[in-house]
Amino acid sequence: MTSTQFLNFHYPVSTEIKDGIFLDISNNLRNPLTAIQMALDLLSCGQLGTLSKQQHHIVEIAANNAQRLIRLTSASKGDREVVNTVISEKELAQIKFEQDLEKALSRNEFSLCYQPILSLKNNKIIGFEALIRWQHPTLGTISPDTFIPLTETSGAIIKIGKWVLKEACSQLCKWQQEFPEHFASLTVSVNVSSKQLANPDFAAEVQQILQETGLKSQSLVLEITETAIIDNDIQAKETLTKLQNAGIRIYIDDFGMGYSSLSRLYELPLNVIKIDRYFVEKLDCPNGNHIIEAITNMAHNLGLEVIAEGVETSEQILKLQSLGCHQVQGYFLSKPLEKYAIAPFVCGEIQ
Ligand code: C2E
Ligand code: CA
Ligand code: CA
Repeated sequence: MTSTQFLNFHYPVSTEIKDGIFLDISNNLRNPLTAIQMALDLLSCGQLGTLSKQQHHIVEIAANNAQRLIRLTSASKGDREVVNTVISEKELAQIKFEQDLEKALSRNEFSLCYQPILSLKNNKIIGFEALIRWQHPTLGTISPDTFIPLTETSGAIIKIGKWVLKEACSQLCKWQQEFPEHFASLTVSVNVSSKQLANPDFAAEVQQILQETGLKSQSLVLEITETAIIDNDIQAKETLTKLQNAGIRIYIDDFGMGYSSLSRLYELPLNVIKIDRYFVEKLDCPNGNHIIEAITNMAHNLGLEVIAEGVETSEQILKLQSLGCHQVQGYFLSKPLEKYAIAPFVCGEIQ
């Protein structure tokens, strides 16, 4: 392999180091190894006395990297001091965190919380949003904002997302069987990541989960962010159309944050726009009404409903109602609740 070919080759180097931590060094050493290969090429072509400044530089990098390799060899024998010179404590902790995350699903460390969504027209719960939690064995409960992006990069979101769907569907089905008078018409909303939406089999997988769990398609909502739609331009429309034709409702999540064009939204099969909590917070500022008013009017003109997210105060509720937004979700009504707290909440009186 020539040095040019080597430059384009992704070298999958990995080494087992102390505490069973599996250190992926492909990024750290891909360039170093390239430099070593290039230096060897230079040595073998017999031009040693005539090296350019740049070629000298490559040989220097190669020598430094050979030193790193030697330190790494010692580190692999478990010498803690040496481990620290190869990788910082912070990097090590991050690697450990990512490894724990990979094992979390098989160790049953994920659970779902459910946050109620309220209709202001009749003061009734219309459904819940399922929100994932990770119970880390030593770090405690971890917010999805911390780990979902990592699972999207690693691809683990595909399996985790499937688990969330199964869990949420079978849980609502259980509540519907146990408390039919309270839960029959309620929906569960599941967040769908961009990676899941990119999968051409996603619609079929969702339908299979409904079949397996026994939940009616009308009881399931999928929340898709604007960004996920932008990321999956063509696939998104096809998949969402299949899902909606099967009776599943589609909410567009975090609306207003993804800069999607309104004309694009118009083409998509959507049922509800969820207004991001950023705009709800702005209701407390002078002229803070305008954006929500514009989104609400636009949604209604498109035949869509609107849910305001992150509603925390009674003042916000009153303003939202006056602006024509009659469905809300947020701490004012309830924080996300663990599953055991949902039936008492729904079956009890809501003030
Ligand atoms: P999101 O879909 O926008 O979910 C709403 C987030 O706002 C939740 O945070 C919820 O706890 C929080 N929230 C609700 N009401 C209020 C309020 O009144 N005030 C404030 N300050 N916050 C409020 P959480 O549970 O930490 O979830 C964060 C994000 O993680 C979610 O944002 C969603 O994007 C993602 N996520 C959660 N579960 C899943 C999942 O199962 N799959 C995927 N792909 N993403 C998920
Ligand atoms: Ca959501
Ligand atoms: Ca949201």
